[in-house]
Amino acid sequence: MSETTAIAWTEKTWNPWHGCTKVSPGCAHCYMFRDKTRYGQDPSVVVRSKSTFNAPLRWKEPALVFTCSWSDWFHEDADAWRDEAWAIIRQTPHLTYQVLTKRPERIREHLPSDWGKGYANVWLGVSVENQRWVERAEMLAQIPARVKFVSAEPLLGPVDLATALIHLDWVIVGGESGPEQRPMDLEWARALRDQCESFGAAFFLKQLGGHPDARAHDKAVLDGRTHTAMPERSA
Ligand code: SF4
Repeated sequence: MSETTAIAWTEKTWNPWHGCTKVSPGCAHCYMFRDKTRYGQDPSVVVRSKSTFNAPLRWKEPALVFTCSWSDWFHEDADAWRDEAWAIIRQTPHLTYQVLTKRPERIREHLPSDWGKGYANVWLGVSVENQRWVERAEMLAQIPARVKFVSAEPLLGPVDLATALIHLDWVIVGGESGPEQRPMDLEWARALRDQCESFGAAFFLKQLGGHPDARAHDKAVLDGRTHTAMPERSA
């Protein structure tokens, strides 16, 4: 696990814990499961990280930080450690944290007591891979946060976000990559791009999917152009 990242919509990753359990079809080809299995570790055991838990306290320059790229911030097995992790977020206002989850039903009960309308340096997001899971975006819409976003990656079917988009600031779209990739129809990406435009949300096209993955990041062109809009960061 490295602190640097190839994920185009962030600058660093922070994994205070790692390991997770699968909750929906978007988890089927989870890279954390693949990599931990390769290292001979059990990916379904959530472990507090000794080496990286306090890492943000050492980062002096402003950066976008994607939390839990190898877990889920709101996983129930991390409940004992999360308050300490929120405290690190409070102590590092120069870092902007992108907290992405597939467990939005747990967000409200596990926000810090001084959350208020949301910490200025936290973006809250949910993953939505197909229409079945739009309810995650609807749950997020009801929760206060300075920036709210949806990651539609891997996008596995058409998604209509009209019931939530008025509350959302940002949508990331990506196809699935890797040897078992499930194809993304460009029409699904197009529809989300157009919905974002209608609702005034930023739209970021991360990749078009496929294997080998040669259509990612700056090669992810839809209708003749790349799409890399992002919300404004606080620091
Ligand atoms: S929630 Fe994320 S980290 Fe957890 S199994 Fe699913 S894809 Fe992997």
